[in-house]
Amino acid sequence: MHTSPESILESGKKEVQFLKGIRVHLAKHFPDLDKCGIPMEGDPISPCCKGPLSKWPQRKTLCPACKQPMWPRKRPSDEIRVLCDAKSLARIEEAWDIAQRMKKLSQEYGDLFWNTKEAMELKRSLSTLESFNDVEWSMLNKLSQQYVAEKQWGLYRNLRFRQAEILIMEQRHEEALRFLFAVAIFDMNEREYARREWLRHDPVSTQEEIEHQLAAAYPDEVAPGVLSEINDEIRLLQLSMDKTQELFIESTRTEATAHHMQIRGVQAWKQLRSKLDLSNRD
Ligand SMILES: [Zn+2]
Repeated sequence: MHTSPESILESGKKEVQFLKGIRVHLAKHFPDLDKCGIPMEGDPISPCCKGPLSKWPQRKTLCPACKQPMWPRKRPSDEIRVLCDAKSLARIEEAWDIAQRMKKLSQEYGDLFWNTKEAMELKRSLSTLESFNDVEWSMLNKLSQQYVAEKQWGLYRNLRFRQAEILIMEQRHEEALRFLFAVAIFDMNEREYARREWLRHDPVSTQEEIEHQLAAAYPDEVAPGVLSEINDEIRLLQLSMDKTQELFIESTRTEATAHHMQIRGVQAWKQLRSKLDLSNRD
């Protein structure tokens, strides 16, 4: 892909902007961060007992005086290398996790992330990693409405999958499974839709040829990543097949009706069930 100097400059500006945004956020919610650890410059001293050291350690080391562990780390707020005791290490790693998550969300969602974060920050403190799940969830809801209005079904389907991933992260497994089922029925119907379009627009090929082409274009009825998550969640929830079927039909009913899906209900369930790994099930 061709990258113009302007676009490099533009992405450079964005980079600076979001790094600044992350620092401002950390300064607000981790005001103690600049007191965490001892800057590794000048005479080396231990962060635990302030005893002198022969040199600044480059990795986790026990303090020769008090035998406590110490770790060299970079602080996310000012990128200064510091030597930490256990307490400041925990604080710095927490802040790094948040900085990383913010960076990722910023890259993925751009301005929508910063605006949503700001709006939510007025109502509550965004000081934990989990609170950024709520920011992302809120963005996904907004995007979901947009995708429905624009009929962007591929993006809509990916968004539902991302919501499932967030629910799994939060250990909300039954809800996650509902979202995964919605993704699965989308995949099955996309393939079915392609089959019908093919049949309509290609009167020359035989049914067999069309099935062959279809299998090449859509090798999986449901994306393998989705299928393996579904398997994991069913196992984790220890659901019986009856209960799983019930959950599937219930959680896909609205989407199936709204999107006039051809494959739905029990038929869709049977199709999915044939793909599930039921090796250790009833
Ligand atoms: Zn010590």
